[in-house]
Amino acid sequence: MIEQSTNIKYLKGVGEKRAKMLEKLGIFTVGDLLRHYPRSYRQWSDFVEISKANIGDTCCIKAIAGKTPSGVKIRQGMTIFKTDATDGTDVIKITIFNNKYMAQSIEQGKEYYFYGKISGNLYSKEMTVSEIADVEKTKSVSPIYPLTQGINSKYISKLVSTALSQGSDILKEVIPTHIRESLCLMEINKAIKEIHFPQSEDLLSEARRRLVFEELFVLQIGLMKLKGHGKEKTQIVLKGDFTNQFFESLPFTPTNAQKRAINECIEQMQSGYLMNRLLQGDVGSGKTAVAASLIYNMVKSGYQAAFMAPTEILAIQHYNSICSFFKSFGFNIALLTGATTAKEKREIKAKLKSGETDIIIGTHALIQPDVEFSNIGLVITDEQHRFGVRQRNALLDKGNVPHTLVMSATPIPRTLALMIFGDLDISVLDELPPGRQPIETYCIDSTKRERAYNYIKKHLDRGLQGYIVCPLVEEGNDETLAAAKKYAEDLASKQFSGYSVGLLHGKMKPKDKDKIMAEFVSGKVQLLVSTTVIEVGVDVPNAVIMVIENSERFGLSQLHQLRGRIGRGEHQSTCILISDATNDNAVKRMNIMKTTADGFKIADEDLALRGPGDFFGDKQHGLPELKIAMLTDTFILKEANTFALKVLEEDNNLDNNQNLKEAVEKLFNKNKLLN
Ligand code: ADP
Ligand code: MG
Repeated sequence: MIEQSTNIKYLKGVGEKRAKMLEKLGIFTVGDLLRHYPRSYRQWSDFVEISKANIGDTCCIKAIAGKTPSGVKIRQGMTIFKTDATDGTDVIKITIFNNKYMAQSIEQGKEYYFYGKISGNLYSKEMTVSEIADVEKTKSVSPIYPLTQGINSKYISKLVSTALSQGSDILKEVIPTHIRESLCLMEINKAIKEIHFPQSEDLLSEARRRLVFEELFVLQIGLMKLKGHGKEKTQIVLKGDFTNQFFESLPFTPTNAQKRAINECIEQMQSGYLMNRLLQGDVGSGKTAVAASLIYNMVKSGYQAAFMAPTEILAIQHYNSICSFFKSFGFNIALLTGATTAKEKREIKAKLKSGETDIIIGTHALIQPDVEFSNIGLVITDEQHRFGVRQRNALLDKGNVPHTLVMSATPIPRTLALMIFGDLDISVLDELPPGRQPIETYCIDSTKRERAYNYIKKHLDRGLQGYIVCPLVEEGNDETLAAAKKYAEDLASKQFSGYSVGLLHGKMKPKDKDKIMAEFVSGKVQLLVSTTVIEVGVDVPNAVIMVIENSERFGLSQLHQLRGRIGRGEHQSTCILISDATNDNAVKRMNIMKTTADGFKIADEDLALRGPGDFFGDKQHGLPELKIAMLTDTFILKEANTFALKVLEEDNNLDNNQNLKEAVEKLFNKNKLLN
């Protein structure tokens, strides 16, 4: 009897060696195998006649095999098998590389679907076959799976069918029956059968709907649990709304978006329930002022507040702006970073513990276990573009739990935000303070590079500053790093000799990075040549021009982030994108950059053009990998979100939903998100 937890090596046709290969696909158990969903489907009925098959096309033909192919060793470890086949319209040579198993399965005179690439010429066509299927035994549709070395789709398909033939209820149902019935979702084992061997398009789409729901439902529940779902009571309550007082002291009035975001936070911090909120706002939208006003409210209510930044430079910058925001109020404000001396640290910590310090600003040094507060009410994290599910947890663990606000400068499309953050509250600053001069963006090809350099020089001569972002360097790759260095050195010694040029790249020590950045902030460095690592959030209003090389290689959101480094002062700013790419996609993306300044719009376009995986560039978002759900599944996501909340309301520990509990633990433990 096999179960979902049965080790895959015990399934007929697997064994130790294949089991190792399957592990690479994340398949350890029979359950994993059944949940290894097809990536797409091969429609065998879409075959072409040999006489009409085009040279260079990859296609399917339906033809009778001449004989079982014979093998010829062409070199060490490489054998090719050749035969021919005909469908009555023409004859075609069949070539199979290095696949004895496939070659020998071909019987003379039998009809097969051959799938592969056509080569040769009009008189003698040839197909290099990547898949074959016995016409008699094959349904018109067959699944194509995500694969690894040594494993092909046919093999996986065979294993799935072996597993399914050994039990009809292998997988446990994780969706509570009443939810499944009210949404008319297919039962799990039926859905699994349909997703692997669809009987019709309708059934396939029903199966998919069910599996997508399940995936998002499990994800949502996990996220909600991760955040400590539900409203958590707190003693930390604001003693009033002091926002107007604060803004009266400032030279500007808040934007409507700022007012709305501040209100949302204040209401929550007055409610007796804990705030755990994301503040999303495009670069320059004024997140720091929102943070300051919340800190003001907290301190006025008798609590301490902490403000955390990802880098030292940003911490110092925040320290300076917070000090200037509060200069007329006489608060005690301290700065704690990795660079703070041991003696200063001791003093700062003592004052924090005694309650003398009202506001502490710093880097991650702030969440060290030896930092104790007398009365912490609010922690604000400026994560810029990182989404730290884990960091949030670290903060929540710190004894007396404060309200938290995480600020992010990456506009995230709403669907994605919901997927990542579950029901985390989100405030959005979708409006820029008035009076900003829009950045002008141009796209040029590399023949005009010298002109761009001259344009930069003109600005440097006027006492302004600029950036050149290097051809996208694979951070960590020595060769490209050397190229970037050489590029910067060339610029410094040739085109920009006589100017002060600094180089910033990902492999520099944090200390050296900070030094260059500080010199740029102070104006000592006029032109900063950088790989992609320009500190997001660094505010140098005097920098007004940015040239981005090979701009087609960047994601739109990344370009938008980079561009956000300029246009921060009173001067007109210019962004020049250099690209020689002529393909439609690149041209389209450059055009979006030229015509749009709205980060949310850009994020949506980015997502549409690149898909969610690429959207983030790497895995730092902490989101478990989705196997079947896509960002376009917005509607199902909403349903999943609603039902996840309901389930947790009734059964917060999932004690009455053991299968579901196991599924959540599996998804999140595998991704090391819990604990
Ligand atoms: P973000 O962190 O969202 O990129 P900042 O908080 O650094 O943006 O704000 C950018 C600049 O705009 C700062 O110099 C800030 O003082 C200023 N600013 C913020 N809010 C307003 C406002 N409502 N009106 C005018 N200027 C503002
Ligand atoms: Mg900022």
